[in-house]
Amino acid sequence: MKLALSPRQSLRFGMSIEINPLGDQKVCSYNCVYCNLGPTEIRMNQVKKQMEFPSVDAIESALREIITESVTQNTSIDSLLVSGNGEPTLHLEIDQLTERLRKVQQEVLPNAKLIILTNGAHIENRRTVETLNLYDERVIKIDAASETGFKAVNAPLIRGNMSKVTSGARKLSDCIIQSVFFQGQNSNLDADELDEWMEVVGIVKPKSIHIHTLAKDSTNNPDISPATEDELYTILSKFQRKSNIEIKVFYDPEATYI
Ligand code: SF4
Repeated sequence: MKLALSPRQSLRFGMSIEINPLGDQKVCSYNCVYCNLGPTEIRMNQVKKQMEFPSVDAIESALREIITESVTQNTSIDSLLVSGNGEPTLHLEIDQLTERLRKVQQEVLPNAKLIILTNGAHIENRRTVETLNLYDERVIKIDAASETGFKAVNAPLIRGNMSKVTSGARKLSDCIIQSVFFQGQNSNLDADELDEWMEVVGIVKPKSIHIHTLAKDSTNNPDISPATEDELYTILSKFQRKSNIEIKVFYDPEATYI
C-alpha cells in the first residue's frame, strides 16, 4: 500500500490526497465488523517492539511526489487526509509526522485542510490529544455508543471502552464525529442503540456529525450490507429533534470512497 495516494474525490472532504502512515501491514486497535483491511495480525502490546513504520521522511517524500503530480495535472486539492492502513495515531512518531505534514501543507497547499481520521481509541493519552489538536480537523469514529454495541461493532484489541473515547474527545479543541450505519451482523440501527448513540454524541458536543454507510464494495463481510438513504435521513431527523449540533448525511450508493 502506497504512503500517499493519488487524489480522489471524497463525498465529505472534496478532492483529497490520502496519507497512509502505516505502510503495508494493517495496524489498528480495532477489528471493525465492516473493515475491508482484514484482521489486525499484530498484538497491540507488540507494536512498539515489532513494528517498523515508514519514516517521517519517506511519508513526506511520497506526499510531495503526489502533490507535484497533482499540480502538473492542474488538480486542485481540498484536503490532505491522514488515514490509511489502520489507526494513524499508532504510528510511533505521529507527533513529528504531523508537524512535518503541517509544514508541507503551509509551504505548498495553504488552502487545503490537514485532516486526520481516527478511531478515537487512544485519545485518553495527553500526547495524542496535543497531536490531534495540530490538525485543521479531527474526525473521530463513533458507530455505536452502548458498551455492548461498541464491542460488537469495533471488536477492540485493547481495553478500550466508550467512556474513554467520550472523555478523550471532550479534551480536543473540537472534533467531527463520523458514524457508519449498516444492516446485518451487529447492525447499529437498532432503536436502543441509536438512542445511546444520540446521547453520547450529545455529550461529546462535536462541531459537526457526518453520518454515512458503507461505500460500494467496501466490505468483505457477506453478513452486512449498507444502510438505506431513508434510514440515514431518519437518524438525522430524530437527532435534529433533540439537538442543534450540525448533522449531515453523505449518501451515494455508487460511491467507492466516502
Ligand atoms: S478503525 Fe478503521 S481501520 Fe481499524 S478496524 Fe475499524 S474500519 Fe478498520
